[in-house]
Amino acid sequence: MKVYKFGGASVRSAEGIRNIAHIVSGVNDQLFIVVSAMGKTTNAMEVVLDYFMKANHQASLDKLTEVETYHHDIITELFAQPETGKAAIKPLFDELRQYITNGIGDDYDRWYDRLVSYGEVISTKIVSVFLAESGIDNAWLDLRQLIVTDSNYREANVRMDESQIRLQQAADFSKNRIYIGQGFIGANIKGDPTTLGREGSDYSAAVVGNLLNAESVTIWKDVPGILNADPRIFENTVHIPELTYLDAVELAYSGAQIIHPKTIKPLENKQIPLYVRPFGSPTEAGSVIKATTEKPIEVPILILRKNQVLVTIRPRNFSFVLEESLSKAFAVMNKHRLKVAMIQSSAISISVCVDNTRYLAGALDELGNDFKVTYNDGLELLTIRGLNDEIVEKNTTGRTCLLTQRTRRSGRFLMKEI
Ligand code: ASP
Ligand code: MG
Repeated sequence: MKVYKFGGASVRSAEGIRNIAHIVSGVNDQLFIVVSAMGKTTNAMEVVLDYFMKANHQASLDKLTEVETYHHDIITELFAQPETGKAAIKPLFDELRQYITNGIGDDYDRWYDRLVSYGEVISTKIVSVFLAESGIDNAWLDLRQLIVTDSNYREANVRMDESQIRLQQAADFSKNRIYIGQGFIGANIKGDPTTLGREGSDYSAAVVGNLLNAESVTIWKDVPGILNADPRIFENTVHIPELTYLDAVELAYSGAQIIHPKTIKPLENKQIPLYVRPFGSPTEAGSVIKATTEKPIEVPILILRKNQVLVTIRPRNFSFVLEESLSKAFAVMNKHRLKVAMIQSSAISISVCVDNTRYLAGALDELGNDFKVTYNDGLELLTIRGLNDEIVEKNTTGRTCLLTQRTRRSGRFLMKEI
C-alpha cells in the first residue's frame, strides 16, 4: 500500500479537491490518503480559539461562522448536490458551537487541540464524500481514535505501538482499497484530542506509512519537488531529484519549509522512500528521499529561517560553570518549547538563536531568575550547505551579521532582517 498526503494548499479550493480525485483515480494500489485542513483554516481556527480563551464567545462563534462559510463556498462549487457535502460537516460545526457556547477556556494548549483539530476532521469529510460521489469508494477514519499520543498538547508525540494495533485493525484493506484520515491530529490515551505541531500533517503521513508498512509515502505539494533554495526568496534555484534521509533531516532542521522535521524518522526506521511531487503536474517525478542516492548533492543549499531571536544569558553571580548554566538554561527552554537553531558560548555567557514564538516571553521571564537576559529580535538565520566564498559574499555582503558559524562544508549566518 501507499500513503498520499495532500496539504492545505491542495485542498484550499474546489479545483484542488477535483485534482485530488483526478490523481487518486489513476492509482490502482491500496491507498491511505492523509489530508490537512483546507487553506488557512488552521490559522482561522486559532482566531476562533483566541476569542474563546478571552471568554468572548460571540466573537468566537462569529469567526467560526466565517470558517463554515468558507467551507460551504467550496462545497457549493464542488458538488452537484451541495446539500450532501454540507450535511456531512454540519454535525462537526454543531459540536464546535456546543464547545464554544458551554466551555470555559481554562487550559490554552488543551483547548487548542480540542478546537483546532476540527479543521482536519472537516476537510477529510468533504474530500471523502466528494471522492465517493465521483465513484471512488473510500472509508473515512477518525484518527483521533486511532493515532494515540502522549498528552503534550500542541506538540504531541505518537505512541507507535498502541497506534499500530489500532490503525492496522481499522485500515486492514480487507473491505476497502482506499482510506482517508486526518493529518496533524490524534488523541491521548484518555481520548482527548491532541495535535502534532504546526505543519504536522507530513509527520502524520510518515507515521501512517510506518504503522501500515507502506511501500512509499508521497507528499503532494505546490512545488516542483525539492529545490536547493526557496524560489520565493532566492534566484536561480535548482531541482534536487534525490536526497538521503540525512540530507532531508538537515534541511528540515535548518528551517527548510518543504517538510516537517519529524517526518523523516518514522520513514527511515523502515526504509520507506518519501516522494515529494508537484500537485499541479502529477506526471512529473518530483524528488525522492531515501536511504542512499546515486550521487551526492552538488549544488549549494540555502535555507532561510525567519523571525529569529538571539537570546544572550549571563549568570547573575560570577560563578560561571558552562555545563551547569547550559543544562539549567536548556531545561527552561525545553519546558517552554523553544526551538534552538544555533548556540554559542563564551567565558561568561551563552547565546542561543530561537524561533520567535508565543512561548518566548515566558521562557525569558523564567531565565531571568538565574540569568541576566538580553535579546535581539527581527533576525533571520541563513544556513548554507556546500558553501563557497562567492555564495557567502553574495548573500551576506552589506548585511549586519550578529553571529556566524562556519565549518568546512557549511555556514550559518544570523543577520538582521532587511
Ligand atoms: N493544518 C495544520 C497546519 O496548518 C497542519 C498541516 O497543515 O500540516 O499547521
Ligand atoms: Mg498546512
